[in-house]
Amino acid sequence: MNDPLPPGGVTQASREALAARASALPPIRITRVETIPIRVPFRVPFKIASGGARPSSENLLVRLHTDAGVTGVGETQAWRRLGSSETIGSLTAAIDGLLAPQVVGRSPFAIAAIMHDLDAALYHSYYAKAPIGDALYDLAGKLLGVPVHTLLGGRCRDELGACAVLTIKPTLEETVAGAEEFAARGFTSFTIKIGIDPGSEVKLVRRLRERFPEAILRVDANASLGFDAALALLRRIEPFDIDAAEQPVAPDDIEGLAELARRVAIPIMADESLSSPQDLLAIIARRAATVLQTKVAKNGGIFNMRKLWTIADAAGMRIYPGNHPSTSVATASVLHLAAAWPGELLHGPFAVGVTGAFAADVVEAPLRVDNGAVRVSDQPGLGVTLDEDAIATLRIDR
Ligand SMILES: [Mg+2]
Repeated sequence: MNDPLPPGGVTQASREALAARASALPPIRITRVETIPIRVPFRVPFKIASGGARPSSENLLVRLHTDAGVTGVGETQAWRRLGSSETIGSLTAAIDGLLAPQVVGRSPFAIAAIMHDLDAALYHSYYAKAPIGDALYDLAGKLLGVPVHTLLGGRCRDELGACAVLTIKPTLEETVAGAEEFAARGFTSFTIKIGIDPGSEVKLVRRLRERFPEAILRVDANASLGFDAALALLRRIEPFDIDAAEQPVAPDDIEGLAELARRVAIPIMADESLSSPQDLLAIIARRAATVLQTKVAKNGGIFNMRKLWTIADAAGMRIYPGNHPSTSVATASVLHLAAAWPGELLHGPFAVGVTGAFAADVVEAPLRVDNGAVRVSDQPGLGVTLDEDAIATLRIDR
């Protein structure tokens, strides 16, 4: 006989007992939370409006071990630009000291309960929670022999279109040449990084529009412009059929985004302004953006991104699946979330690592972009297998 639930309501123990009782899941336990800090080199130094050009990105893999011998993996990064204050050290400390104790000893199928308890253990800190949640999904999928998109409601699409990110280059010609290379690989959507030199950026947008009359063009100032500069620049590029202007002004300037949305015809996209569901509610209430961009690390992984997509969908916003530069691990997270999403999705920069920004990957069969899209895997879990040799080369803690 099953024990009755305690009269006081639903506790962690009773929630897990209920889950196991309802589904007869195997009594597997998570035994260890392993953090693996890596430094991944960019193929070409990565330059956006805020900060200097970066030769590499510090990413963190989290691997969950179980007493069944099966592991799950997730990925985050110490992005350290607007919207991200975490370092590899702070991420590791938060996970080892505060979050891992909420995970060890638990069932890998108690995903919602564990994510709830992570929020109770540490406010916000989506960058630290993302790799744990995604590793739970990977683990649950592997243990059940199903892909993560099956756990999320089932596959709704076979592939997800990726956009090319045109980072800031020394000359207009180099940026256009980069776009030509992406176009030759089948890309039809481009995000043009702007925010440094309005005069040459207007010329660049015009050149790209003339060269690719059918392409989807978006611009991204990475929160670097003041209001007046943003308004002036967006008005100058209005004639070039821009699909969205991503985060022109500072993350905290929601009123600025709203004012831009009222004064220019280009739809406004929120990225750095959007971490939590509460942020999104504020953006919706002020009509500050009609497009949102999520990223695995910034927004807390699959579990939390799905909440944002649901709220955005209810508000009639368009959804742009993004990512910080990531390996195939976090790219797979977006791919599975998108695969199980029944509504429309834009071609996003979710594959910014595997589109060629990174010079290395950490999985045995890196995800590939073919004809501007990444195919959805039907392998169990996230469908990626860590390459131990690659990790040994990239890790920075030993
Ligand atoms: Mg952005």
